[in-house]
Amino acid sequence: MVNFGRQVIVEAQYRQLADGGLLAELAKRDMMLHGPAHCFNLLLHAEDYMTNHPDWFGLRGGKQVPQTFAGAQFCWSNPVARKQFTDNVEAFARQAPQIHILCLVPFDGGQACECDQCRKVGASNLLMLLMGEVIEPLKTSRPDLPRPGEPKAGCNVAAESCQLRRLNPQPEKAVRNQE
Ligand SMILES: [Zn+2]
Repeated sequence: MVNFGRQVIVEAQYRQLADGGLLAELAKRDMMLHGPAHCFNLLLHAEDYMTNHPDWFGLRGGKQVPQTFAGAQFCWSNPVARKQFTDNVEAFARQAPQIHILCLVPFDGGQACECDQCRKVGASNLLMLLMGEVIEPLKTSRPDLPRPGEPKAGCNVAAESCQLRRLNPQPEKAVRNQE
């Protein structure tokens, strides 16, 4: 990934795909784009927010730390942080219309926030809460997500679980069904 700084990294990456002609070729072949995957750190970038909102960032070892490798995910129990993340996701999704599967994955190498509220509710529950909030504005601004005709099974959030216990010592709790 080219480093353009701040959250525009994912937008710039998408623009590169467009400018390079890849998106046009995908459209010709009726192929869909899936992404941007491990992006939480880019959609709530520490350089943009950490100075003014340190409480949005995850607690690790008693300190609020940025979303970087061996850092922490942002504080998913903080509703203001979740709202900013949600707004940033929507802004990106509007600018990336050829992404038909919007895949949002926490950044690699970070554990969940250790604050009392995050521990109490559980990282899996908070992640599902966040995803539920993320999809609400997208129902209006990107009604094509998921792609029309795709099976939905009564829910437009797909969960994927990757167990990496050596990096995430917190036990997973039950995932709450959002719909
Ligand atoms: Zn927290």
